[in-house]
Amino acid sequence: MSAPSHDPQPASPTVPSSVDVAVVGAGFSGMYLLHRLRELNLSAIVFEAGGDVGGTWYWNRYPGARVDVESLAYSYSFSEELEQEYEWQERYPTQPEILSYARHVADRFDLRRDIFFETRVTAASYDEQARTWLVRTGHGDEVTARFLVMATGCLSSSKLPEIPGLDRFEGPTYHTAHWPHEGVDFTGMRVGLIGTGSSGVQSIPVIAEQATALTVFQRTPAYSLPARNRTLRPDEIADMRANYRAFRQAQRESGFGVPTPIPEKSALEVSEEERDATFEQAWESGSLVNLLTAFHDLSIDQAANDTAKRFIHRKIHQIVRDPRTAADLCPEYPVGTKRPCLDTDYYETFNRPNVRLVNLRRTPLVEITDRGVRTSDDEYAFDAIVYATGFDAMTGALTNVDIRGRGGASLKEAWSAGPRTYLGIGSAGYPNLFMITGPGSPSVLSNMVVSIEQHVDWVIDAIEHLDRQGLRTIEPTEEAQDAWVDHVNLIAGATLYPKANSWYMGANVPGKPQVFMPYAGGVGEYRKTCDEVAAQGYKGFALST
Ligand SMILES: Cc1cc2nc3c(=O)[nH]c(=O)nc-3n(C[C@H](O)[C@H](O)[C@H](O)COP(=O)(O)OP(=O)(O)OC[C@H]3O[C@@H](n4cnc5c(N)ncnc54)[C@H](O)[C@@H]3O)c2cc1C
Repeated sequence: MSAPSHDPQPASPTVPSSVDVAVVGAGFSGMYLLHRLRELNLSAIVFEAGGDVGGTWYWNRYPGARVDVESLAYSYSFSEELEQEYEWQERYPTQPEILSYARHVADRFDLRRDIFFETRVTAASYDEQARTWLVRTGHGDEVTARFLVMATGCLSSSKLPEIPGLDRFEGPTYHTAHWPHEGVDFTGMRVGLIGTGSSGVQSIPVIAEQATALTVFQRTPAYSLPARNRTLRPDEIADMRANYRAFRQAQRESGFGVPTPIPEKSALEVSEEERDATFEQAWESGSLVNLLTAFHDLSIDQAANDTAKRFIHRKIHQIVRDPRTAADLCPEYPVGTKRPCLDTDYYETFNRPNVRLVNLRRTPLVEITDRGVRTSDDEYAFDAIVYATGFDAMTGALTNVDIRGRGGASLKEAWSAGPRTYLGIGSAGYPNLFMITGPGSPSVLSNMVVSIEQHVDWVIDAIEHLDRQGLRTIEPTEEAQDAWVDHVNLIAGATLYPKANSWYMGANVPGKPQVFMPYAGGVGEYRKTCDEVAAQGYKGFALST
């Protein structure tokens, strides 16, 4: 695997031996946290495994990498000056544009001086006597902290396919989540690409334009909508700048963190013409949320969802000329139950003479060889292999750290049957440990910047509350946690989400327990619950002096 190159960083100061708050991760979560913690006059440091800020947008530099929530919505709301001064270029910005936004925020708020880059946290243990966390890094640094905040990201622990021979291939290999900073030129190469989730869907059209031949290995097809990306017009930027406050409020109250009208009709109560016209409008709009909320029952009623499925299948067959390839690209699971994608020319790419699709359901992957990839019926020779195989989502980055709570209990073991949290913010047995967008919160089912800001603000309020009341620790009770896990499961069970083998369910990681991890009740509802918990003196949490 080609090693990622790192950006030059100024020499880091020495890690202090003790701080009020230790934060792990300097993506959008860790950056905003640091800013808020400084406002409270708390001493805080951030450890970041990467060479700069940005998290997801620092690591995922594969060709075609973009956000699929619009830039004006996928941005911080905490600073009106920042909102007014930052000039977004595209409706759906590319990874470089988002990374440069993150860097701008780091510069503007002078964040880097408290961030230790290229420093991975390997372990954290709670000292019940001192009531502090001891945090250890891969460099051997140790720091004690009253609070530990895991801002480690839902999609930051990358995954390779679990097949033999990964180190056997003689050419270069690349994982989309660890792309070389200098880029990769595939000109003149035969490229094999494994995986057709978001990263595959975004990179396949771009790699296909460069490579002599591109072979795509697909286990499960994705539902993808054309993004209809474009440069933002000055008038829409001006309009948003004039209306940001109302827009941000609407984001916070919405289902997915993106304001959308609440659908009133069932997909089954309208005529076929009206239904198709509604889906067509969503397809033309280039917005995933418009599709997912076209009718109120798409996420809960199989027959309603089937109408969306048939519509997208028809689109795929209209675009892709080879009927067998088109059929292979049509997913069978319910629309929206695996992360849907936005693309630029994804299905069209399969009409190119240099692109072929290998359906791994028909001919499973067997191994990686020194020359390429072997399936059950053939060996394919390549000059380079791309793994677009995603992440150990939501829990991977948390359980990668050896976190030990009360009695030395390991978080990884405590979650061996699936993650257990209260509100996705804390876990019983782990006092003063907070997670930003943890499992059991809307997280990956939302525009994540909205969810990140909400969690950070809630955590900051909780710390402020403890300090005002002269309290020292906060920890979810087992009862509140059990009730929350049941509630999360109940809501998921009322939807079609558990019907797909998705990374939402942990299904992409062999051996990982299959439970639906995010909270599916919506960003607005969830915020209300968190606010009520705080207003009732942090109900469900044990607070102690
Ligand atoms: C390809 C891709 C596309 C995406 N598109 C969208 C989108 O369109 N809309 C959307 O809302 N979200 C999207 N996301 C989700 C995205 O992760 C979030 O929007 C957001 O960037 C998360 O910010 P974060 O700070 O919480 O986590 P991250 O950005 O993942 O940052 C976490 C940081 O923690 C660091 N870290 C982890 N473990 C350790 C450790 N042990 N020690 C030190 N450092 C550590 C990592 O290096 C990383 O830099 C996408 C994710 C990916 C991967």
